[in-house]
Amino acid sequence: MQNVLGSFGRSRARRYQPSGDRVTFADVAGIDEAKAELAEVVDFLRHPDKYRKLGGRIPHGVLLSGLPGTGKTLLARAVAGEADVPFFSMAASEFVEAIVGVGASRVRDLFTQAKEAAPAIVFIDELDAIGRSRTSGVAGFSGGNDEREQTLNQILTEMDGFDSSTSVIVIGATNRPDVLDQALLRPGRFDRRIAVQPPDRAGREAILKVHTRGVPLGPDVDLGRIAATTPGMVGADLANLVNEAALLAARRNHQVVDESDFTDALERIVLGAERQVMMSVEDRRRTAYHEAGHAIVGMLTEGADPVRKVSIIPRGVALGVTFAAPESDRFNYREPEVHAKINVALGGRAAEEVVFGETSTGAESDIQQLTEIARQMVGRWGMSSAIGPVAVIPRDGQGPFLPGAAEVSPHTQQLVDDEVRRIVDEAHDDVVALLRENRSKLDALATALLEHETLDEEDVYAAAGVERAAKPPADSYAAAAHTRVDG
Ligand code: ADP
Ligand code: ZN
Repeated sequence: MQNVLGSFGRSRARRYQPSGDRVTFADVAGIDEAKAELAEVVDFLRHPDKYRKLGGRIPHGVLLSGLPGTGKTLLARAVAGEADVPFFSMAASEFVEAIVGVGASRVRDLFTQAKEAAPAIVFIDELDAIGRSRTSGVAGFSGGNDEREQTLNQILTEMDGFDSSTSVIVIGATNRPDVLDQALLRPGRFDRRIAVQPPDRAGREAILKVHTRGVPLGPDVDLGRIAATTPGMVGADLANLVNEAALLAARRNHQVVDESDFTDALERIVLGAERQVMMSVEDRRRTAYHEAGHAIVGMLTEGADPVRKVSIIPRGVALGVTFAAPESDRFNYREPEVHAKINVALGGRAAEEVVFGETSTGAESDIQQLTEIARQMVGRWGMSSAIGPVAVIPRDGQGPFLPGAAEVSPHTQQLVDDEVRRIVDEAHDDVVALLRENRSKLDALATALLEHETLDEEDVYAAAGVERAAKPPADSYAAAAHTRVDG
């Protein structure tokens, strides 16, 4: 069959010559553990004989798992760069919809090339696209199922054909290691697994350093501060931030990229670009009260993250936004803080109820968000006494048919639904009561918003007449973005 397809079946893997755009470990930052684990692979590629003489079993397959944009591809290329060996890559997702036989023939071709060029790296991105568990329910829906299977089988065949003299190392990448077929993870296949974690604050600073190497920075730019204000961002986001800031600086005819370029670029990325829309006077007023409601509840609720910014300028699909964000990266939330999140999310809709006596479609994303939080409280975090510390939501949230799904009886399911309902209802009553009691603050903030459209942390608290907790004003608003969806 591959002959009939001719060159169509040929590997489209790009071959990176060692001399070309070489990437090294110096280009990869903030993921030091993954780097350290791969140093061994580099050493093997450089000195395969050293390992063979001692009869060591060389890893043939390394699986990098981590969120998109954390630097898995970059890391694989850096391994090739450090070892000075060719890099062959393919994205597994290309084969899902392909004609049957193409994927397998490409894989054969790819490995043939790599073996000829050995020592070499073969990189397979999005491995889960073809390597999903064959028993998981999802597979059956895929149109290119046969192709998927054949491609996967061909990869396994190739890897099984490696012997101790083969110095080709296959690096696979996925953000869904939980759905991978067990066959892929067997000894001799992807038996070395490395988690690529999102960077922490110091890691983000290191990544920013890498990406500003060729960028002239103004004296007021503090990369440590930018790192502090970007929790949740991964390498690709930070690279994008630097690029946006540079573009903005150029547009403004700045000679260097300064602090304001970074701040504005971050705002654009996090809030979305401002959008021109005609809003009726009534819609504007409703939006102002909606956002003021979120903000007032955020300011007056114990355990809620400080409110950083409120705006009624439409951006993206949102009519307005309220940002609340913690002082630093958060990895763990206490129960009152989780409740506070639900209350803040309810604040917008509740304000509409209190002021206009009716709700609108503008609260859709709020409702989605708070329902998800309440469900996790009950089903994952053991925060409902009726359910107890029992996991009733499978960890990957992909529905009940994937491996690892918890067994849940219809009775328990009903109980979960009831508990979610109870938590949200109680929160709703509290929030409406809070806003009624503080109606004058709500009115004052809504009025200030109608006048100024956007208020920063300090002005939000001042306009509402709320004492701000004696904390330094941090301008970190990346973590807990809240948007209001246009109805
Ligand atoms: P993944 O493969 O995990 O989705 P990529 O390696 O494709 O992520 O990352 C995309 C780009 O983002 C990289 O080319 C690089 O510019 C930047 N990047 C991502 N992670 C890092 C990192 N840890 N250090 C430096 N740059 C990074
Ligand atoms: Zn809202």
